[in-house]
Amino acid sequence: MTTLLVKGGKVIGPAGAIDADVLVDGERIVALSLPGSITTADTIVDATGKYVIPGGVDAHTHMELPFGGTFASDTFETGTRAAAWGGTTTIVDFAVQRTGERVQDGLAAWHAKADGECHVDYAFHQILGGVDEDALKAMDQLVAEEGITSFKLFMAYPGVFYSDDGQILRAMQRARENGAMIMMHAENGPAIDVLVAQALARGETDPIHHGITRPAALEAEATSRAIYLAEVARDTPLYIVHLSASGALARVAEARDNGRNVFAETCPQYLYLTLEDQLGAPGFEGAKWVCSTPLRSKHESHGRDLWRGLRTNDLSVVSTDHCPFCFKDQKELGVGDFSKIPNGIGGVEHRVDLLYQGVVDGQLSLERWVETIATTPARMFGLYPRKGVIAPGSDADIVVYDPNGRTRISVETHHMNMDHSAFEGYEIAGKVETVISRGTVLLEDGVYRGRKGHGQYLRRGLSSYLV
Ligand SMILES: [Zn+2]
Ligand SMILES: [Zn+2]
Repeated sequence: MTTLLVKGGKVIGPAGAIDADVLVDGERIVALSLPGSITTADTIVDATGKYVIPGGVDAHTHMELPFGGTFASDTFETGTRAAAWGGTTTIVDFAVQRTGERVQDGLAAWHAKADGECHVDYAFHQILGGVDEDALKAMDQLVAEEGITSFKLFMAYPGVFYSDDGQILRAMQRARENGAMIMMHAENGPAIDVLVAQALARGETDPIHHGITRPAALEAEATSRAIYLAEVARDTPLYIVHLSASGALARVAEARDNGRNVFAETCPQYLYLTLEDQLGAPGFEGAKWVCSTPLRSKHESHGRDLWRGLRTNDLSVVSTDHCPFCFKDQKELGVGDFSKIPNGIGGVEHRVDLLYQGVVDGQLSLERWVETIATTPARMFGLYPRKGVIAPGSDADIVVYDPNGRTRISVETHHMNMDHSAFEGYEIAGKVETVISRGTVLLEDGVYRGRKGHGQYLRRGLSSYLV
């Protein structure tokens, strides 16, 4: 085996920051040692003055997702390469079962897209777009045999992915039996569809109406309903995806205060971007920021509350919901009708940096930064301690992060397959310097040395957070 030593850095984990050298043998971390106590290795990475953190775990991506009459523009190859550039060494993408399709066929299609293409390790959640007797049986099989232990349901998108409350309850009951986590897109889709039709009838066709017709109250209502349904299903573990609104956060916080198995993630776009400043950009420009749940109003307290939720652990995880569409030909499908704009923002490359900016801004501690971008998503989705921590026995997924570096986000320099950036011009006071995946250096000194096919499929266990 070849050895690699990351020396001189400050290792950050949920339990604190310690000065330690990290020894890697082959694909795994074998030791943390006193600085300077190990002097030889086949490869030495100098991390003096830098942070040494576990590789990022992005638990919510959609590579090549067919949606809105087109496909998300990153393939597994380009998307995982961009992830690696940004310090994310594991993604959990969503295999899709469409209505009328067998769950196993949907899963096989995702394996076919990803197999041999990925630059970093990957796992899957399973979207259930048609909950019926066969799909319920498939849940058991996926948990037992495929390493897929989380299932996403939609309270939105009637006619596409939507499950009614009866279907949701049945899937939750099944998850209670087999130990899986239910992930919920919590927006009241039928009510949203009424508001969309009314807006279009009034001639309100600009991108900002995408946000106005998906009000925060309908996210809070659906979040609350999902929490009650999970209670009826004997406290099935429930994970609210892409939480964007204060009201929804309040419902999650209340459930957690009552000891419930309720968790939630947010995404960088909800922490930094707003309905008025981005979605409301002049002309059709705002289409770049059409995503669901939508960006929220800066005149309300959402962004501030989400940062607080991250500090208090009412929000456990930051994912990207990476679902990029190019402006040209893709977002443009919705010129003259906001409801035809493909929903999604690309951000898989920037999550680690954007959350580090939260440390610089005094919103998060260093430890909490690492927890929300790596450790907790690994634990939440059954990848811990293989992923999400710098510890003996864990995979050698390591990022050397330079707190004195700078990152400027731009379409000119990013590696995602997108013709624009949702965070164009953002300056981050920090920089991903070196990225190591299972002992292989993917990025060093600004030179990318990764390759497709390095990334392996990860079979996941059950969530570490369940009681
Ligand atoms: Zn969703
Ligand atoms: Zn999503």
